[in-house]
Amino acid sequence: MLRSLFVDFNSYFASVEQQLNPALRGRPVGVVPVMADTSCCIAASYEAKVLGIGTGTGVAEAKRLCPDIAIVLADHAKYVEVHHRAVAVVDSIAPVRQVLSIDEMECELTGRWQHRARAVALAERIKTELLTHVGECMRTSVGIAPNTLLAKLASNMQKPNGLTVIELHELPARLYELPPKAISGIGPRMVQRLARCGIHTMAELYAAPRELLRTAWGGVAGAEMYDKLRGQWYGPREKVAKSLGHSHVLPPDLRHPAGAFAVLNRLTQKAAMRLRKQNVYATSMSVHVRCRRGRAGHTGDERAAQVGETQDTAFLLHTLEQLWHSGLHLLPQPVMVGVQLHGLIEAGQHTGDLFGFDEATADAQAVTAPAGSLSARTAQGMAPLRDRRKLLATIDTLNGKHGKNTVYFASAQAGLDHAPMRIAFNRIPDLESER
Ligand SMILES: [Mg+2]
Repeated sequence: MLRSLFVDFNSYFASVEQQLNPALRGRPVGVVPVMADTSCCIAASYEAKVLGIGTGTGVAEAKRLCPDIAIVLADHAKYVEVHHRAVAVVDSIAPVRQVLSIDEMECELTGRWQHRARAVALAERIKTELLTHVGECMRTSVGIAPNTLLAKLASNMQKPNGLTVIELHELPARLYELPPKAISGIGPRMVQRLARCGIHTMAELYAAPRELLRTAWGGVAGAEMYDKLRGQWYGPREKVAKSLGHSHVLPPDLRHPAGAFAVLNRLTQKAAMRLRKQNVYATSMSVHVRCRRGRAGHTGDERAAQVGETQDTAFLLHTLEQLWHSGLHLLPQPVMVGVQLHGLIEAGQHTGDLFGFDEATADAQAVTAPAGSLSARTAQGMAPLRDRRKLLATIDTLNGKHGKNTVYFASAQAGLDHAPMRIAFNRIPDLESER
């Protein structure tokens, strides 16, 4: 039974650029977050990809491989606008069940559309309508399979302009030619964990018993993967994302510890604002730094901390500061940084501030956390939470009205005097949209 139809745009950012600027069509195009030879491509057109240029290729390297490559500055607003149009077009043909990223969406096939010939006809119609109504450069690869995991995998099997069907009876042999990392959710770290369990190939992954996958994944996610690989249907993700966050490739002039920290500070403020917008609370926070691979061999590092249940910018900035000074500040040549807030819970399940300075107690100025603990230290010198709530709401309103960085906390930017904020945040797209 075919139930999932997965649409993935080919070279999305580069295709949008080619669509909007005919001079770029048919040419190798690299999209960059910052105009500099030390920057790297966050997307490449198909013409560039055949020359070996892809996401992550440095601009200097791309120019060496292809001297007349067109290097284009990313314009996130354009990509978002085209995204909304594309979703509307697909949704007019088959209801879109979930949008997975800026260039990926899934439709659920029901009734007679679950039969192969009908599903393929539907996919062809979606492809044609996208070319007609969004643009002739907007090519897609479509995957059709019994569930989302397999349909996404199928969409990656033929590029560009692919249409691949995986039927239940073709499993698992049809996938044996692919490496396990072709599966969404099996990243470099998971590949290592699987290797430790003796799993290196797709055949070995399919041969592994459910319990072994549970061990490899360290929990129920492994058992779920076992079922998904066998085509079992599963629902879309929970409505509330379990985590949210941002990461940024640092522009060349901020590739030093102070610059990295300044960017992390902004990313934290942005993430905290999103918590409040979605009305969810974070229970833990992690910060990662990736470094240029040098002789020292540093590739980066990450730190995490529990934050109770919070959506408070000031508290998250203090946590950031502590995580940063626990060793991240010593990493040489940072090139990319990110902040993630995890374990999100909805406001309805929020149990008040675990550290004891929620509204009921904040005004009493009685911080009940043990002396020396993270919360006690960070609570020092902060306004009572009720006042901070009002302040945060005001900041969110101002930023919503006048642009993202109209007002922001400078509290954690001490020591950054030599690293002025020259970065124009709203012009640099989040890499998360590339996932
Ligand atoms: Mg894509």
